[in-house]
Amino acid sequence: MESALERIRNLVGARGWLEAPAAMATYLSETRGLFQGRARAVVIPASTAEVAGVLRLCNESRIGVVPQGGHTGRCGGAMPDSTGTQIILSPARLNRICALNPLDYTITVEAGCILADIQAAAAQSGRLFPLSLGAEGSCQIGGNLATNAGGVNVMRYGNARELTLGLEVALADGAIWDGLTGLRKNNTGYDLKDLFIGAEGTLGVITAAVLKLFPLPREVQTALVALRDLEACTELLVQTRVASNDALSSFELMPRLGLQFALDHIPGCRDPFERRYDWYVLLVFSGARPDGGLRAALEALLADSWQAGLIQDAVLAASEAQARELWRLREGLVEGQRFEGGSIKHDISVPVSRVPEFIRTAGDRVRRELPGIRVCAFGHVGDGNIHFNLSQPPEMDQERFLGLWRHFNDIVHTIAMEMQGSFSAEHGIGRLKTAEMARYKSATELRLMRAIKAALDPNGIMNPGKVLPES
Ligand SMILES: Cc1cc2nc3c(=O)[nH]c(=O)nc-3n(C[C@H](O)[C@H](O)[C@H](O)COP(=O)(O)OP(=O)(O)OC[C@H]3O[C@@H](n4cnc5c(N)ncnc54)[C@H](O)[C@@H]3O)c2cc1C
Repeated sequence: MESALERIRNLVGARGWLEAPAAMATYLSETRGLFQGRARAVVIPASTAEVAGVLRLCNESRIGVVPQGGHTGRCGGAMPDSTGTQIILSPARLNRICALNPLDYTITVEAGCILADIQAAAAQSGRLFPLSLGAEGSCQIGGNLATNAGGVNVMRYGNARELTLGLEVALADGAIWDGLTGLRKNNTGYDLKDLFIGAEGTLGVITAAVLKLFPLPREVQTALVALRDLEACTELLVQTRVASNDALSSFELMPRLGLQFALDHIPGCRDPFERRYDWYVLLVFSGARPDGGLRAALEALLADSWQAGLIQDAVLAASEAQARELWRLREGLVEGQRFEGGSIKHDISVPVSRVPEFIRTAGDRVRRELPGIRVCAFGHVGDGNIHFNLSQPPEMDQERFLGLWRHFNDIVHTIAMEMQGSFSAEHGIGRLKTAEMARYKSATELRLMRAIKAALDPNGIMNPGKVLPES
């Protein structure tokens, strides 16, 4: 192993090699402190060829490789195990925007590009790259693709998989698959890119991608509405899609508890309503024409919904600054949870029509299980994806509460699965949910996944211990 490491060090040079504990510390710490790990070194190659060379050497010496992008993932997928024998491979130096083709509506980027930088490059050319999530200032596109990230615009534009036309991947044996096509139609055998998207680094290292662009919205209208009740959210969604002529790009459900977390803890958050309501939706219409048609459509929707009793109140942003204030509440809801003690998180999806039923059923069940538990269920209703987060009872010991993580996972995930849902809609599996894979995936699905893993990574060097449960 040491001689292989020596050769890797020579290959990537001093700029691409970290092994001092202080230099590796940020790669080994994770914001929520949920996952710990040790690494033999952090390797930061400067090119795809170097990534492939590192993998070839690791493969020959059976050294485990943990790809790590922006390290914002929620499931421990980018954290090595505790043996100290694995290396972290960071694509951070592969950070070039290689090409933007305005006619093809495509952008070709290296995997270490920060998501916000790709959005900015697209916007400069009057184009939109619509993948957008709270961590966009630090997550990398390689990590987004490896986790098939979602975010706030999925309903309109799709998740990372649907935004990807081509990929380049360094494989475990050191080969490079150049699939950097920008073609929109290409039916020539198995779609290999879809294997690597969402594989969380267990099949290879994504080194570059060709992504889809869209016209940059010239009119964006944002509103916060107070719902009649939880059930009104799906009814309003149906009305909204029609009223907006399908120009709806975000539809985010927020409970009062979450709004209160934002108001109590996050500077700059302000309740736009005089009264408190139980449920809110933040919704955005966006379109490529600047002519104001969307504002009129949104005003009409709000008036009709109020008359029909679907909503109790609404505020329509009059400026970009006001729209940002409304989004601040949605983001503050996420940040605010950490000031309320332990939070056990779930990232489930169910068919859109069953979102209210899920929230009520799972909410009643966890409250019966632990009186005083505080349910903060919010998220992307339009995708049926709810972050069903549980804040501890205020007086309870935090460690004791967090010790119940697995217990509450079982309860919540089982309810989602019984509703034909998914136990992980956005954040993936990492090392956090491998037990759920064993429990909820069929024997056939697991057999197929293991066969793919064995074909692409026969020595099991790629992100060992992640995604697939031990057999
Ligand atoms: C505030 C906040 C909000 C978030 N909101 C959302 C949201 O709305 N939707 C959502 O989907 N997620 C969300 N996330 C989770 C996270 O940001 C995403 O999962 C993101 O896509 C991870 O990107 P990353 O670069 O940080 O990857 P990392 O965390 O570094 O890695 C994630 C996984 O991908 C693998 N990986 C990383 N780079 C590569 C590569 N180049 N090739 C192969 N494998 C690789 C890693 O091994 C690991 O398994 C949020 C996180 C935070 C902190």
